[in-house]
Amino acid sequence: MGRIFLVLFSFSFLLTQAQTPQERAFAKELCSPEFHGRGYVDKGDSLASEYIAKAFEQAGVRPIKKSYFQSFTHQVNTFPGSCLIANNNRTLTPGVHYLVDPSSGGAKMTLRPSEFPLDVLMDPKKIQQEVIRLLSAKKYNSLLINTKGLGNDTLKQLNELASFLAEVLPVITITDKKLTWSVSSRQLKHPLIQLHDSVYQHSSEFSIDIEARLVPNYTSRNVIGWMKAKKKTNKTIVFTAHYDHLGRMGSETYFPGANDNASGTTMLISLAHYFKENRPDVNVAFIAFAGEEAGLLGSKYFVDHPSIPLNDIQFVLNLDIMGSGEEGITVVNATLHPEAFSTLTNINTVGNYLKAIKSRGPAANSDHYWFTQKKVPAFFIYTMGTNKHYHDVFDTYDELTLSTFNSLKAMLIDFSKAYLFKL
Ligand SMILES: [Zn+2]
Repeated sequence: MGRIFLVLFSFSFLLTQAQTPQERAFAKELCSPEFHGRGYVDKGDSLASEYIAKAFEQAGVRPIKKSYFQSFTHQVNTFPGSCLIANNNRTLTPGVHYLVDPSSGGAKMTLRPSEFPLDVLMDPKKIQQEVIRLLSAKKYNSLLINTKGLGNDTLKQLNELASFLAEVLPVITITDKKLTWSVSSRQLKHPLIQLHDSVYQHSSEFSIDIEARLVPNYTSRNVIGWMKAKKKTNKTIVFTAHYDHLGRMGSETYFPGANDNASGTTMLISLAHYFKENRPDVNVAFIAFAGEEAGLLGSKYFVDHPSIPLNDIQFVLNLDIMGSGEEGITVVNATLHPEAFSTLTNINTVGNYLKAIKSRGPAANSDHYWFTQKKVPAFFIYTMGTNKHYHDVFDTYDELTLSTFNSLKAMLIDFSKAYLFKL
C-alpha cells in the first residue's frame, strides 16, 4: 500500500512539476509582440536577451565572466517599416499571401511584371535577351517567375535565378508551396517577392511599398551562465538553446518562433531550476544563443571566443524545437556517440517517456554544429509531432502543444544524471 502510494505520489509530482504556469508564461512572453519575433527590428533579440538573463538569475545561473552577455556584430537585412503588397488593388496579407525574400531590396512602386516561360528561364542566353528586351520596351518593369507544380531541382534552380535577376530588376515568384521565411546578411538591389499561388491573379499589377534596411554592424548577444559544482572541478556539461528567431517582416508582421525556439529556451530555464535544487558534482553551463537563424552565428562566435575552455566541456546538449513530441524526438549526432545514444534510449524505455527516439548522423542544422566541428561531443535534440509550423507566422504560442514537455524534461534529467554528469 505504502509503495503504491509512493509511486502515485511521485507520478503526480512529475505531472504537477512540469509545464508549470511559470514555464508557460515564460514561453508565451518570448512569443509576444513585445519581443518582435526576437530578431533585428526594434532590438527584438536584445530585449529577449535581457529577459533571459533575468530568468537565468532567478534559476541560480551565475555569469561566468563579469556579465551574462557575449556580444558580437554581424550584417543583416531588415524590414523595419512598410511591407505592403496589393495585387490588382486587393491588399494582401503579409506572411500568409506573400513573403518578401529575406535578401530583398526595398521600393515603393507599381510593378507590371512580364511572365517568362520555362524554356526561357532554363536558358541563360534567352534570359539575357528577354531581360534586355523587357527593360527597353517599358511596357513591363519587372519579372514574374511561376514555379507552380515544378519539381524540387527546377525549383531550386529558379529560386537561385530569381535572386540573381533581382540585382537587375524587381522579381516576383509564384509558389504553391508553404511560405517559409529566413534571415539574410545581404541585400539585393531590387525587391524579390514570393507570392502564394492561391491569391495570384494572372496579368496583374502589383503596388508595393517595401522598406528594406541593411544593417552592417548589428550587435547580437549570447546569454551565458553556469552553476559551479560544490567541489572545484573543470568538468562542465553545457545545455544550449537559441533564443533568437526571424524578427519582423515590416512593422505589422512578426514571426513568433514559438516552437523554434521559445520552447527550447523554456526547457533550458526549466532545467536550470531543477539543477539549482539538485546540484550535480560537475559544473553545469547554460547558453541561450543569439543569431542562430542568421546562420548559427552566436554558437560560431562562442566556439571561437569560448568563456569556458572547450577542453573542459564534456558534452553539449542542444535543445531546439522542444514544443511538440507526439511522435518522439530525433537525436542529431547519435551515430557519433553510440554509447550516449544507447544510454538515452535505455532511459527512455525504462521511464516510458517518449514514443520514439530517432537516430540521425551529423548535420549543420543548429548550434551543436560548431561544437562538433571543434570535436566537442554534442547532441542536438528536436521534437517531432503534430505542430508542423516552421519559420512562418503560424508558429505561435497558441499552436504549441508542449504535450511531451514534462516527460522530455524528466528524460533529460535522467540522462544527465546517468550519463552526462559521470563523464
Ligand atoms: Zn531553431
